[in-house]
Order: sequence, then C-alpha cells, then structure tokens
Amino acid sequence: MSGKLYLVATPIGNLEDITLRALRVLREVDLIACEDTRHTRKLLAHYEISKPTVSYHDHNERERAADIIEKLKAGLNIALVSDAGTPLVSDPGFRLVRDSIDEGIRVVPIPGPSALVTALAASGLATAEFTFAGFLPARRYARRARLAQLAPLRSTLVFYEAPHRIKETLADARDVLGNRQTVVARELTKLHEQFIRGALSEIEIAETRGEIVLLIGPPTEDKNLEPARSILEEVEAAMREDGIDRKNALKRVARARHISKSEAYRLMLAEASAHELE
Ligand code: SAM
Repeated sequence: MSGKLYLVATPIGNLEDITLRALRVLREVDLIACEDTRHTRKLLAHYEISKPTVSYHDHNERERAADIIEKLKAGLNIALVSDAGTPLVSDPGFRLVRDSIDEGIRVVPIPGPSALVTALAASGLATAEFTFAGFLPARRYARRARLAQLAPLRSTLVFYEAPHRIKETLADARDVLGNRQTVVARELTKLHEQFIRGALSEIEIAETRGEIVLLIGPPTEDKNLEPARSILEEVEAAMREDGIDRKNALKRVARARHISKSEAYRLMLAEASAHELE
C-alpha cells in the first residue's frame, strides 16, 4: 500500500507557531522533503525531532518529485515542508502534489501559518473578498502591466514583495491603481513586526530590510482618495482635450503607463466589459 504525502505548514517567524498535529506528523513520517534542509534542520532541532531529510526545491523539482513518488509508492510516509509557512503558497511542491494525485497517492494537508492570511487578518482592509497575486514581476514594465490587469478587481489585493523593491512597487501601484488604502505588513510574528497603514501616497518606508506582505484595498468611493482613471477614461480625455484620434490616444496612454499598446487595448476592453456588468 502507498504511503501518504503530508503538506506541513511551518512557522513564518515565531517558532511557537506550529501545530501539535504538525509536530506529531514530523515525528512520525519516514522522510521530510524540505525546500532547504539546513533551514528545516533548525526547526527540527528546536523540537528535538531527528528525521532523514531530502531537498525539494525549484531547481530539482522534476527529478526529485519522481524519486519521492517512488518512495511513497513503496509505502513510505513523507512530509513536505517549505522554509516558512504553507508549502505551495509561492513555494515549491506543485508538481509533487499534482503527480501524487495522478498516481492515486493520498495527499494530507496539515494546516498552519501563511503570511498572506496572517497579514490580511490584521490589516484592517476588506477581507470578504481578496485576491492573492503572489510576487509581482521584478521588471517595472511587466509589474505595471500586472497591476493594470488587477486594477478593475473590487477586492483587496495581496502581494508578497521583496524589501528592496517595495518603494518602487508602491509608486507604481499609486500610478496604476490610484491612491488606495494600503498596508505594508513587515516581519510578521517576529520581534520587529510592523504594520504601516495609510493611503498609497502617505506610506513611508524607512526600513528596506525584512519580509513584506503588501495589501492594497479595493477601489474606493472616498472623495479624499483620488481614484485611478480607467484607460477608457484617459483615452477619451486625450481625444477630447488634444483632438487626437483613438489610436494615437491609446498609444499615448500606454506610454504613460509603461505598458504596451496591445496590453492597453486588452485592458480597455476588459474595463468596458466590467463596466457593462455593473
Ligand atoms: N509559503 C509562504 C507562506 O505560506 O506565506 C510564503 C513563501 S514566499 C517564498 C516568501 C514571502 O512570503 C516573503 O518574501 C514575504 O513576502 C512573505 N513572508 C514570509 N514570511 C513573512 C513574514 N514573517 N512577514 C512578512 N512577510 C512574510
């Protein structure tokens, strides 16, 4: 009979944030597949758990998934952990889970911390509907295009962001999304945990280290927060005010937003259909 694949959530900072069930499973499995074995060994040492570990990360995922599946089929029980939080949430594991399911192996989630839910709960932003968009692209052009795709959504947007990029991302978000309510959640569950809250134009980042979740509230009706103009509105304004045709107006708006003309066109169509649905 096949063994089971356990997806075990581990702390995102404070080592006490691990469930009793997670600790029991880590003690009972035959093998622990880790994003970084040295990192996980510190957690295991803290809880006096001594288990064989094997690395499983983005660069060896293909071969390692096949190895691990062979072991599961041979009857071993295996836990998958990442460096922090819930495996597969912006972390390796997707291939292993998908292939295990295809092979009829039982996949057992062991829930626990994840930075996105931790940050959202304490953010004070709307929680009824949220969109987790992982990491934004590192390049400015692609990042602004991605933000423009997300702009029509009426949910809180949640991102993981690298500390050295947060200032640029806040500036891009301000331009593309308008001056929305925002929270920068830093170093969650750690000694220097911090929530910086305010409109995008007000947020000041003094510290450019530490782990960050960026949360941006939905578009608002608040008159004090200047809303972003839609691409359609900007195109129409350019045609009206500067007497240029639609094609040139679109070209100008795309250049101002640092996105391609075809992307601006696609987004304009999306805005128009979202508008029709309202
Ligand atoms: N699997 C993890 C989870 O469930 O949250 C996320 C892994 S992802 C590779 C790492 C990113 O998560 C960091 O760059 C940061 O954006 C966010 N993150 C992780 N721990 C955090 C913490 N303690 N405080 C703030 N953000 C954190």
